[in-house]
Amino acid sequence: MLQNERDIFNVLFEAVSEGVIVVDTRQKIILTNASAERMFGYDKSELVDKDLIVLIPQEHHATHGAHVEGFLKQKESRQMGRGRDLYGAHKNGTVFPVEAGLNPLQINGETFVMALVIDISIRKQQELQLQELNTKLEKKVFERTLELSNTVEALKAVNLDRDAEIKKRIEAQNKTKDALKKEKELNELKTKFLSLVSHEFKTPLSGILTSAMLLGKYKLSEQQDKRDKHIKTISDKVHYLNNILNDFLSIEKLETGKINYKFNTFKISKVVNEVVYNANMLLKEGQIINYPESIDDYSLYQDEKIVELALSNLVHNAIKYSSENTIVDIEIEQDDKFTSFVIKDNGIGIPINDQKRIFNRYFRAENALLTQGTGIGLNIVKSHLENLGGSISFKSEENKGSVFTIIIPNKAK
Ligand code: ADP
Repeated sequence: MLQNERDIFNVLFEAVSEGVIVVDTRQKIILTNASAERMFGYDKSELVDKDLIVLIPQEHHATHGAHVEGFLKQKESRQMGRGRDLYGAHKNGTVFPVEAGLNPLQINGETFVMALVIDISIRKQQELQLQELNTKLEKKVFERTLELSNTVEALKAVNLDRDAEIKKRIEAQNKTKDALKKEKELNELKTKFLSLVSHEFKTPLSGILTSAMLLGKYKLSEQQDKRDKHIKTISDKVHYLNNILNDFLSIEKLETGKINYKFNTFKISKVVNEVVYNANMLLKEGQIINYPESIDDYSLYQDEKIVELALSNLVHNAIKYSSENTIVDIEIEQDDKFTSFVIKDNGIGIPINDQKRIFNRYFRAENALLTQGTGIGLNIVKSHLENLGGSISFKSEENKGSVFTIIIPNKAK
């Protein structure tokens, strides 16, 4: 190399920012540049003739020799420390991270290795900071996610509250609607009542008036039987009107849910005797009521008044819708849970087309229109029985007769 070339080489060699360290095959340092000396804390040429090992931290001495020898055998340039971190040892004893590339050289038949070393402390520090930042960020993300999921949960709870609120409102609206509907029905009922009063009450009232007038005419003491007849007529008709009024009161109570059932234990025979006793007064010429007399063992825990009302309604209908000289049969059976009352007549029956509407309020079959009635009784009986866990049904054939059946639990709940 000419002096001039050597000068240029030296300038370049010293100017390179990487540390350059040349070692021979025994790993003795032959040459270092200023960057390498600065990096490892040595004065100019202080490293020459020293073992390379002085630049390597104590804890890596054991593995270092083998690495260099392996490299010398392969004799090609490569990056050192692939897959692991490399460290340099500063003269002052500190250790710092480096990156090193190894290049084999042949000069005059002798092998050397030129190592290019970079101090990567700052980069490592930055990496570390980045890692810390990442960890912090991850922590923050985790915290935020947690906060978010808490918020979502809170929102869900709010939603649930809102749903409950909406449900409540709908319920309130429905209640108002129901109340309005009931009010409307009550109004209809009142209108119906007025028209019924003017229609249904007319005949009995004029009967009562006539009897009362005639009563005044029978002044002689031997006319007592005539007086009795008119007194009976008056009392029957007053009874009849009273029953209609009671039916109306029942409907209103059923409608407004104001019914309080009163339960007690009673003998069925007591109710049957009472119903039959009252019905006997309504019997037409030649009509008979057959009823079981061996029912003294049967008792009910029920609302006695309602059972009586149901039974008397059916018996009165059987009498009312049958002609003279007919029989009304009452049959009663009881098992361990239910009691059934069956009321049979051979009356006018219910036309097949009217049968499905027979329990509708105010409905009267077409063949019954000449007989007095309001079409309320069966509707009330059905409502009461259903309230008490019972039922009512019938079979009927026009001009042959009808069979009505009531089933009621022996014990009210
Ligand atoms: P009402 O007898 O006052 O009209 P109900 O509600 O008791 O009212 O009966 C409704 C209708 O059912 C009656 O109008 C009648 O058409 C029919 N009905 C009820 N019971 C009998 C019966 N035993 N035989 C024939 N028809 C009946």
